[in-house]
Amino acid sequence: HSKEEGRNQYSFFVPEMSQAIKDKREMEMQLRDALSNGELELAYQPKWGFRSGEVEGFEALLRWPHKTRGPISPADFIPIAEETGLIVEIGEWVLLHACMEAMHWPNDIEVSVNVSPIQFSAKSLLKDVRSALAQSGLPPERLELEITEGALMQDTDANLEILEAIREMGIKIALDDFGTGYSSLGYIRRFSFDRIKIDKSFINDVLTSKDSQAVVQAVCGICANLNIESVAEGIEEQIQLDYLNKEGCSQAQGYLIAKPMKPEIVSEFLERPHRYLTKTS
Ligand code: C2E
Ligand code: MG
Ligand code: MG
Ligand code: MG
Repeated sequence: HSKEEGRNQYSFFVPEMSQAIKDKREMEMQLRDALSNGELELAYQPKWGFRSGEVEGFEALLRWPHKTRGPISPADFIPIAEETGLIVEIGEWVLLHACMEAMHWPNDIEVSVNVSPIQFSAKSLLKDVRSALAQSGLPPERLELEITEGALMQDTDANLEILEAIREMGIKIALDDFGTGYSSLGYIRRFSFDRIKIDKSFINDVLTSKDSQAVVQAVCGICANLNIESVAEGIEEQIQLDYLNKEGCSQAQGYLIAKPMKPEIVSEFLERPHRYLTKTS
């Protein structure tokens, strides 16, 4: 009886696994082609400053308009690019193109680039950052790298050294998706981040969840005390923006201000007035 079950399991399990592996290989090959054929694009989402009342920078977000399947979310293809190591080449492309694009913007507007943990372990990050700045001519002060805790969990000392070297160049370092990992507070002690981005899952329900309110208040408070800028991601509603303003948050990002936009739109977007807070707040 148990033999039969075993066989059933075998014949059910294996074809499904191999299909998943085939799908991944297929996607990896298509992604590699998209990269070499220049089919990858960057969309830019503004980051708005509570104090200045102005747009202070844009985050570069990777877009893959797949020829037959339509747009594929980075949440779906970045993990595959990471598994296969292709993220190293993709990351190099993103850095260079984001820096070059930012050269078309007013010279007080920053650009933020997401960096995968794999780019640290591949040891190419420092070289790629230097070469993107050199090729584009962008001043390092206008570049920010967004890293997640994943980059710090393995090889911590080696990665902190790389981060330190990058920061010494004048580039800003932001800790992305804060609150979703494990020992976030420990990392704040070990490295002086310029910004901390509160994950949008906390912003989603900040008006209704006491827990999210506690996290948002704590992070904004810690940042203020440590002279770190706090950034709220995923602001979709006016009332969320007003709440974050009261908590002393530094920057806001989210659909309320704008969705990620094509590079052609950025200059026109910057020319519009950008007042988002309600008058009473
Ligand atoms: P992330 O870095 O945390 O980026 C924020 C994500 O939230 C983006 O999703 C953005 O479009 C989305 N978002 C912004 N405001 C709102 C809002 O108000 N509501 C909602 N529902 N969503 C909002 P996106 O562009 O799909 O990117 C997903 C993730 O993929 C990014 O999360 C980042 O981890 C990764 N990613 C994107 N581009 C790159 C890249 O060039 N390199 C690497 N390594 N990762 C990237
Ligand atoms: Mg990010
Ligand atoms: Mg984030
Ligand atoms: Mg996030």
